[in-house]
Amino acid sequence: MTDKIRLVCPDCETINQFQAARLAENPACAKCKQRLMQARPVAVSDSGLARHIGNSGVPVLVDFWAPWCGPCISFAPTYAEFAQRAEPHIRCLKVDTEAQQAAGARYGIRSIPTLMLFKDGKEVARMSGALPLPQLQQWVAQHLGA
Ligand SMILES: [Zn+2]
Repeated sequence: MTDKIRLVCPDCETINQFQAARLAENPACAKCKQRLMQARPVAVSDSGLARHIGNSGVPVLVDFWAPWCGPCISFAPTYAEFAQRAEPHIRCLKVDTEAQQAAGARYGIRSIPTLMLFKDGKEVARMSGALPLPQLQQWVAQHLGA
């Protein structure tokens, strides 16, 4: 039985495919040899966002933010800590909506910060506003049925 999953490399954006059981070992990218999970939110472009959402064997959480947004800046350390704890079971991304306006437009982001959760390439939940870490963990767990 082959139970393979895909993950996109945070550094070179190569799509890697491997046995799901190896996820716990945090495999290295076949191309650039960097770890596929780096215990931090990955900043992505518009195209990188689509690539991750479409090719992640784990749920994907996205923080839509902007450099001029005070609440976004204060939320950043919470999100970083979330990523550190949630990986490798959740891929955490962040999108600067000022630099990547197409991404925000595609998902109809009207206020920031907005968090979106995707599973198997589909949106399962979204929320506007920052949350403290325990509530963030609870929100994600609730929508993933974990
Ligand atoms: Zn790579």
